Amino acid sequence: MDCLFCKIVVGEIPARKLYEDDQIIAFHDIAAQAPVHFLLIPKKHIATLHDLDAETDNALAGHMLFTAQRLASEQGCQDGFRVVVNCNDLGGQTVHHIHMHVLGKRQMHWPPG
Ligand code: 5GP
Ligand code: ZN
Repeated sequence: MDCLFCKIVVGEIPARKLYEDDQIIAFHDIAAQAPVHFLLIPKKHIATLHDLDAETDNALAGHMLFTAQRLASEQGCQDGFRVVVNCNDLGGQTVHHIHMHVLGKRQMHWPPG
């Protein structure tokens, strides 16, 4: 297994976890870009957003989004936050295990660089 986030899933690499259940894990980003910056990943290896299956992963995708919503509130982001999913090299993805970034507690700007 040569995937950084799969190693976090099995505990081979430590992470500061916010939440875990049988399907997903949320943990703080190691290089936070905002006062709140955590990642939500599925436990099963899915490389990119393109690899998410509309049928088999439908419930998983919803679970990730609603967990992002709940954890953002718990982290004090009631006034707003940003969710980002970078897809593949052109989208700026560096770890090829699908993840949602949740960033908050500072003003976000548009467009992204
Ligand atoms: P991407 O650029 O693929 O959308 O985001 C990958 C994210 O993973 C980056 O924000 C990066 O800081 C974070 N990251 C990379 N390695 C580790 C690690 O070992 N632990 C944690 N917690 N985050 C990591
Ligand atoms: Zn993986």
